[in-house]
Amino acid sequence: MQCWTARRPSYAEPSTALIEMAGEFELIDRYFTHSGAQRSDVVLGVGDDGAIVNIPEGHELVVVADTVVCGVHFPTDAEPADVAYRALAVNLSDLAAMGAQPAWATLALTLPTADEMWVETFAGAFSALARKFEVALIGGDTTRGPLSVTVQAMGLVPRGSALRRSGARPGDLVYVTGWPGDAAAGLALLQGRLGGQGADRGWLIRRFQRPEPRVDWGLRLRGVASACIDVSDGLAADLGQLVSVSGVGAVLRVESVPLSRALYACAGEERAREFALCGGDDYELLFTVPESRRSELAALMALPGAPAVHCIGEIVAGSGVRVRLGSRELAVRGFDHFRP
Ligand SMILES: [Mg+2]
Repeated sequence: MQCWTARRPSYAEPSTALIEMAGEFELIDRYFTHSGAQRSDVVLGVGDDGAIVNIPEGHELVVVADTVVCGVHFPTDAEPADVAYRALAVNLSDLAAMGAQPAWATLALTLPTADEMWVETFAGAFSALARKFEVALIGGDTTRGPLSVTVQAMGLVPRGSALRRSGARPGDLVYVTGWPGDAAAGLALLQGRLGGQGADRGWLIRRFQRPEPRVDWGLRLRGVASACIDVSDGLAADLGQLVSVSGVGAVLRVESVPLSRALYACAGEERAREFALCGGDDYELLFTVPESRRSELAALMALPGAPAVHCIGEIVAGSGVRVRLGSRELAVRGFDHFRP
């Protein structure tokens, strides 16, 4: 990894135009030199071949990475601020699902052109979200190519305390934060696949464009949740991942899955449920809690600033996710169903 050294395409004989382009990219790199929070544990940040950070005694490093690609993870006409927000937020959500305190990030930005206005807006939004979660940008690079953004985020956990997908056991209850399905409905609204007006439309689109990483809640769940995952591919699909890694099964009760008022208003009950079960991009936390920890969960839920948390099912022996609506068992498809 180079730390904000603009890469010139490696053609045999660089033309003047290419050299000028590389210069523009170098200019752009400056927008990221002092980005995000300033942290005392950064020994060496942007500007060298690599960054150096201090990991406090008794802690472990949690590392996550995600790429967002134009036309796949966000619409081609998305605002640069929304692209920046999403690129970092999805990584913070992964850290939240691990119960990690966010600390540092790197950013690899691939751009079709050296559009300084675009980059300035992007960099401002990226830095604002990074500061909010006390994340320092410690390196990365800029290259020319189809628009995509790769962020690697790093966080800290006291040794042995990270949340994992693998700890769910029969008898544990399954919970989800927030309002699943809103983000997928927001994307459907943007793409004209769903109709909706006014405040409800705005709310759902906002939930797609600006998912709130549940970092604080992830930290609180350490020692309480037996397993945790963030909802990126859809509630049913991600619960399927969790039970598969844990070697158990789950029953998901559709009537218990919370639906936001806005989702209900725009999509109607049946379609709202479909968005909630199969739509992706929610970045809510889906987690399991054993019987012995339920009173601790109740205490956490009563704390100020706690998100809405709903019990939506239970872990059972066996494998796979059984989705039940009353006494009926439903077949659900995840994720791809709602993709462009
Ligand atoms: Mg994840």
